[in-house]
Amino acid sequence: MTDTPRTIVRRTPWPESSSRAVVTPLQPSVVYSSESPDALDDQYEGRAKGYTYAREGHPNAEVLARKIDAMEGTEGGLVTGSGMAAVTAALLGCLKAGDHVLGGTQLYGRSLRMMNEELPRFGVATSLADAGDAAAIEAALRPETRMILVELVSNPTLRLADLDAIADLARRRGILLAVDNTFTTPRALRPFERGADIVIHSVTKLLAGHSDVTLGYVAARDPALREAIRVTAITLGLTPSPFDCWLAERGLYSFELRYDRAEENAARLADHLAGCPGVRELLYPMRPDHPDHDRARVLLGERGGNMVTFTLNGGRAEANAFVRAARTIAFAPTLGDIGTTISHPATSSHRALSAEGRRALGLSEGSFRISVGIEPIDLLLREFESAIAASGAASAE
Ligand SMILES: *Cc1c(COP(=O)(O)O)cnc(C)c1O
Repeated sequence: MTDTPRTIVRRTPWPESSSRAVVTPLQPSVVYSSESPDALDDQYEGRAKGYTYAREGHPNAEVLARKIDAMEGTEGGLVTGSGMAAVTAALLGCLKAGDHVLGGTQLYGRSLRMMNEELPRFGVATSLADAGDAAAIEAALRPETRMILVELVSNPTLRLADLDAIADLARRRGILLAVDNTFTTPRALRPFERGADIVIHSVTKLLAGHSDVTLGYVAARDPALREAIRVTAITLGLTPSPFDCWLAERGLYSFELRYDRAEENAARLADHLAGCPGVRELLYPMRPDHPDHDRARVLLGERGGNMVTFTLNGGRAEANAFVRAARTIAFAPTLGDIGTTISHPATSSHRALSAEGRRALGLSEGSFRISVGIEPIDLLLREFESAIAASGAASAE
């Protein structure tokens, strides 16, 4: 008989290895044990670096954050549990009751809700103005305006904010400029290089790229603001899951390849659809017929991105026929996946608007937004062409 214990304990040594894992380890631990009260004291006082409790920070979030920092040209960015958590951290970390925040009229739907419904409940005044028109933004500023929040490319109309003029305005007036860079990504635009103070991402979309994680990222230029955002995010519990961070990091390594391929596909598809009978209107920033083409060239260079918006002839019946016929393409309200997805603003992102409100934005029942993926382009062209033909056949019935 040996005296081998029949119970197991958690704190046994990790198997010894003189070689190291190539892949970033996944660390799901919620708690970290310190050597002694003195050692813990050193951690809390910043004399030693160490994790304590995962809500306050964990290695997988930190590894991911440092990589996105490198891509964005930022420092000390924070990964959060969703893109909306990043928006929340940026707003609640920087604003207090009595402040005013000005948003672009075509912000992401939930960001608009944050502006219109949530912030006012806490005494933060909000208003919206067209980010495509710097004079409209200037006219909407108030003495107590603390922040301007914009996205460069609007969803789904793909109009461009007058970012350089807004950044100039914000600098002159001492107002923070926050840019949600989800659509454009650092491949096309690095907001800090154009005067932004805060950059926000839904990592869920192009950066992670596989529609299997929900994550966000926020970075501030000013270290004091960065710390305020971090503390607010921790207190509100906006922490990401280690596994999501691990998956997103894995996605990040193919980001540039995915982005370039999707963008090349988008440019080809846009040109093809523009010549398709049955397509009434098509928007892609790199096409000379785009209303903000010149501004797109200044702000994005050659980078048109992977989003294309188009309008089919006809109404709901034609829209239904188109989606049903496009069998290999997911009809799903997201963007930035490796696979092409289509969304229908009239029944999803813009359903809260009246038909008139949608018309004012140039949207109708026939309008679709395409998030172009990395499929072989011939397959995409064929699928769209036949689905558009099917929608035309529906209107002939
Ligand atoms: C999706 C999205 C968000 C919100 O991100 P989640 O990860 O879904 O919370 C914010 N801004 C933009 C531009 C988005 O597309």
